[in-house]
Amino acid sequence: MPSTVYFGSPRQARLEAKETLPAKLDLILDQLHLRDRVKGETVLLKIHTGNNIGYSTINPVFLRKVVQAIKDGGGKPFVADVWWDVAGAETRGYTAETLGCPIIPSAGVEDRYFYAHERPYKNIKTWKVAGYAEDATFMVNFAHAKGHPSCGYGGAFKNIALGCMVGETRSAIHDTHHYDRYWFPELCPDAETRQRIIDSCPHGALVQDKHNPEEIHMHFEPCNACGRCLKVAPPGSLKIEAPFFWTFQEACAISTAVTMSTFAPGKAVHMVLATHMTPVCDCFGFTSMPILPDAGIFGSDDIVALDTAVLDATSKTPLIEENVPTSMEIWKREGHPFQVLHGPFKDPYKVVEYGEALGLGTREYQLVDVLPVEKISRPTLGYIKAN
Ligand code: SF4
Repeated sequence: MPSTVYFGSPRQARLEAKETLPAKLDLILDQLHLRDRVKGETVLLKIHTGNNIGYSTINPVFLRKVVQAIKDGGGKPFVADVWWDVAGAETRGYTAETLGCPIIPSAGVEDRYFYAHERPYKNIKTWKVAGYAEDATFMVNFAHAKGHPSCGYGGAFKNIALGCMVGETRSAIHDTHHYDRYWFPELCPDAETRQRIIDSCPHGALVQDKHNPEEIHMHFEPCNACGRCLKVAPPGSLKIEAPFFWTFQEACAISTAVTMSTFAPGKAVHMVLATHMTPVCDCFGFTSMPILPDAGIFGSDDIVALDTAVLDATSKTPLIEENVPTSMEIWKREGHPFQVLHGPFKDPYKVVEYGEALGLGTREYQLVDVLPVEKISRPTLGYIKAN
């Protein structure tokens, strides 16, 4: 059975506030019955506060509306994110005064307050869920959609997967890319050839391993699977294959499942604001030009359906290529625009596939537009003769 995803278009018919995205957020909160669900709950409003001088994260105008809805419903809201993003969040307009509730580091100022969950996956044995995230009894997961160098797309899953874990687990999630062997030094014993392989990558994705000069270490983030290195590497010595790139997304799905397991059924809603979508994550500390047209605001009880709907909506428009930083290389124009941007192996849909397999929701959804854009009808044009 499909899940319902509520949607507010970024487009409007009339120049009126009630047709704009913050007003459509109100309609989505009504549809999700947020006020009716939070009485007596301690509500985590999980956002990504960004870093440094980024300005494309969710504007406090939206967050204040969510906070007010939670208060109206008798809930006790607080905003949380990882400590190094919360430190300095006021630079980007996030304070207790602007949001209407406290804003705290999710695992404490020392990043040491957590609950451990055993669930082996590749290099990860223990998932350390941020203490204040797990202590909350209800979660409003409100993500900003953007591109992501590790996996193509960052949305609702990534907001929980990375943002509700302590730094040690966040690093381990990134390290899942390196668990399966992609470099086989026995097939390339010659140092000169190794250096040629490293030099062949125009994106700096290949480096000599810090501890072992015979090892090549790959940075998966800048790799767009262009294949230049494979032309230089002896056969079989280096593997650049799609499944290596997917481990991050599978880890994100598991991480989300672990955090979600600490909330009782029905005690979470998920929303995504798909505006000013930048090439990379908000943690980079700056805002680049948008690489896609704004796609709107989305909300659902089902995180799988939600991220699927956002990806489908953003797949309908091509990249704004003139806004792509010139250091990035677009060499294959197939698949989702985030894949076109970050390389064909960074399929942004993998995370929802893994999430569905873990029972977090369904990729089948029905999209309900909370305020369809009115078509304005006009009489046919008259003819005014010049002069
Ligand atoms: S596939 Fe292309 S981007 Fe990736 S490591 Fe090889 S040369 Fe670099």
